Amino acid sequence: METAESQQIVIIGGGISGLSAAYYLLRSAEAGGFPLRVLVIEREQRLGGKICTDVVGEQHPFLLEGGPDAFLAQKPAATDLATDLGLAQQLIGTSPAQPATSILVHGRPRALPEGLRLITPTRLRPFLVSPVISPAGKVRMLLDLVNPARRIPTDESLAAFVRARFGTEALDRLAEPLLAGIYSADPEKQSMLATFPQLRALEDQYGSVIRGTRASSAAAPDAAGSQSRTSPFLTLQGGMGRLVQALADRLHGHIQTGRRVLRIVPSSRPLSHYQVELDDGTAVEAHSVIVAAPAFVAAELIESWQPELSSKLRGIPYVSTGTISLGYRRADIHRPFAGFGLVIPRRERRSLNAVTVCSDKFAGRAPSGQVLLRVFFGGFRNQHLVDASDGSLLDLARRDLYDLMGIEVPPVFTRIYRWRQASPQYHVGHQDLVAEIARLSPPYLWLSGPAYYGVGIPDCVRQAKAAAEQVVDQVLHHLDVSPAL
Ligand SMILES: Cc1cc2nc3c(=O)[nH]c(=O)nc-3n(C[C@H](O)[C@H](O)[C@H](O)COP(=O)(O)OP(=O)(O)OC[C@H]3O[C@@H](n4cnc5c(N)ncnc54)[C@H](O)[C@@H]3O)c2cc1C
Repeated sequence: METAESQQIVIIGGGISGLSAAYYLLRSAEAGGFPLRVLVIEREQRLGGKICTDVVGEQHPFLLEGGPDAFLAQKPAATDLATDLGLAQQLIGTSPAQPATSILVHGRPRALPEGLRLITPTRLRPFLVSPVISPAGKVRMLLDLVNPARRIPTDESLAAFVRARFGTEALDRLAEPLLAGIYSADPEKQSMLATFPQLRALEDQYGSVIRGTRASSAAAPDAAGSQSRTSPFLTLQGGMGRLVQALADRLHGHIQTGRRVLRIVPSSRPLSHYQVELDDGTAVEAHSVIVAAPAFVAAELIESWQPELSSKLRGIPYVSTGTISLGYRRADIHRPFAGFGLVIPRRERRSLNAVTVCSDKFAGRAPSGQVLLRVFFGGFRNQHLVDASDGSLLDLARRDLYDLMGIEVPPVFTRIYRWRQASPQYHVGHQDLVAEIARLSPPYLWLSGPAYYGVGIPDCVRQAKAAAEQVVDQVLHHLDVSPAL
């Protein structure tokens, strides 16, 4: 009979998914008083994956985020993890600027109308006087109040949904930059059910997205976005990297970096179900494996003996994106926009997708008198930019920042982050594809990460914790549960 002592759980990938899976595995083992060997194998020397916090400058430094700069507070898994790691006191919210976000309209940044929830107007007057949508576009959006619910049983694209409920202008001006932008996605392909099921549910339940949003905002005012008294986004005083550092400290002795997994193959050894083959020619025996690397990596690792699952995993496409952090003197920003974020619709034909004033969004991001900006490029709109030279990218960024904010001078520093094949795309039918992947997944092999059930940090932590709990169940009780996915 197998004993817990003999079980080694191998986790592939040392991003937030892999590290939190390892943390929760060890925590369960400690709480249950049983020994468990856990090993995280990470390809790079650096841990954290997409989480990448850097400090620039010595005495009064800038604090940069190359990847995620915050997480959604409404989904509790990341806040719970930070609390479990003793970081609760270091959690900080966004500044209470109102409005938080502006949007580019015919070349000019305009504040989003008060009361806009995602893209749904909930307050009539601010919506009617806002220059963001034309008068005809507003009338079309308000038709949502009278057009009957369509009650379609299947998935559809974000574009199809928004066109049907609010019209084409709302799609181009609001939904594309605000909703598809979160996923760096093409709204014509983005799955409504996998990304914004709540909007479809409001249509079904109330017959109108506007009526439904108003009713649910009245019932739960604190969960309702811009008017929330608590910040909808949280980060750590020292940046998102603190989460990774705290996990790495707890996992001391359980992590190997600079080692790439090449293959996972079934093992014939007793007490082990898999052999994990590494790029240095060695192999590690594993009772269970959690693959916390992108879906296309998982596909590659199991291709030789799981061709069907592998091909389904490859069916989840990824796009490349990038960010550039730039430091300026505050006096050099001649035309600041309202709030700390500017989103740029595709129809504005700019190189940049969005601009964040990080030093206004969170405290402690830039020295006094200076400003830290972060600009976003790539995604479905212009993936090719990720391969542009540093010089061309900086030229494009500076040209847009001159037009949008009146910045004429060169930045005091810049740093470019390229994220190739980094953002999983939830295309129409994504939920069926993921269900099929779960059905095909062999026992003792678990898939975790943003490709499956949500792309944000809280989604990653939640899935990793669920995978860890099910692995522990299996190890302890020899339960034949289906894959965690
Ligand atoms: C620019 C950007 C901004 C974002 N902003 C936000 C935000 O503000 N809020 C938010 O909630 N989310 C945000 N996200 C999404 C979020 O960052 C990611 O979904 C999350 O960090 C993914 O974590 P992960 O551990 O699953 O994957 P990753 O971070 O990709 O980690 C996977 C790890 O696996 C390793 N690996 C790959 N192949 C192998 C192999 N063969 N062997 C061993 N190791 C391997 C990789 O090196 C990597 O370290 C953002 C993403 C990007 C790209």
